[in-house]
Amino acid sequence: MCPVCKHLLRQEEGVLRCVTCSQAYPITEGIPDFIREELSRSADPVLRRMRFIDRMARIYETRLWYPIVLNLYGGFHSPSLAQLISTVSQHVQSTKGRVLDIACGPGTYGRRIASPTKEVFGIDVSMGMLRQGATYAAKEGIRNVHFARARVEALPFEDGLFDAALCCGSLHLFADTVIALREMARVMKPAAILSVFTFTAGRGGILKFRRVRECSRRDHGLHVFDLPEVEQYLTASGFKDFQPEVSGSILTFSARRQAA
Ligand SMILES: [Zn+2]
Repeated sequence: MCPVCKHLLRQEEGVLRCVTCSQAYPITEGIPDFIREELSRSADPVLRRMRFIDRMARIYETRLWYPIVLNLYGGFHSPSLAQLISTVSQHVQSTKGRVLDIACGPGTYGRRIASPTKEVFGIDVSMGMLRQGATYAAKEGIRNVHFARARVEALPFEDGLFDAALCCGSLHLFADTVIALREMARVMKPAAILSVFTFTAGRGGILKFRRVRECSRRDHGLHVFDLPEVEQYLTASGFKDFQPEVSGSILTFSARRQAA
């Protein structure tokens, strides 16, 4: 669907075109691009760093990124990437159908969750990450994972399309958490499960220091949540059954989309 006017898209030569507002969304190397604004001029400090994020795509799944970030922010007893993938897989274990992977990066979680019964649709703001994801998926022979460039605040999908959603390593980066969660809820079916990995002001890593959290928020747009705050945001966005797990300063949780 058109992320602007929420009407249907028609596929033409190399573009998806909205049948109502005529906006055209180019498809590059099989990846539709639903972001028409220049993010380097964004007011959002996270989006302004897009060139850096694009370049980081190659190292994102290597030892040079995930273990360092987890230990630095979450503490030395943080779960590993493999453990996080396992937790998220358990949350969506009984799901059959379509899974939305929000801010999917190179499909770090989505590629590992895709199966004959789970078709994964990954969206991210970084074309570098999405290209890397498509390259990995092709090499690994994973066919039921698809990538598109889109913002969490304007998802290119109709209401109630997804049977589950993942949001791993990015909830803390969205400019407005409730706006992001509401848009996720819009495209999910009633009772569909949401699985999240984010950070909290816990006992491990540099995030246990209040001044680090304040500085991260002010200079880098990183929100470090406490648990009542997360639950409040979820309730305000149409989710229930908040099931948190905290390890160091790492928070994983599941929640369910409320019936409309
Ligand atoms: Zn439109």
